[in-house]
Amino acid sequence: MSVAGLCQVCEAAQARHACPRCGRGVCDDHWNGTVSACAACTRGRQQ
Ligand SMILES: [Zn+2]
Ligand SMILES: [Zn+2]
Repeated sequence: MSVAGLCQVCEAAQARHACPRCGRGVCDDHWNGTVSACAACTRGRQQ
């Protein structure tokens, strides 16, 4: 899966991951590797 363009959460950093839940491309800062989803999908969740 290729990710091109900017992080769709902060729009300031290069997207390096594609969230399988929402399809967003996100940067390292907004990627939660523990649950393999973006910060937008994991926000407010304890996991
Ligand atoms: Zn970001
Ligand atoms: Zn997501």
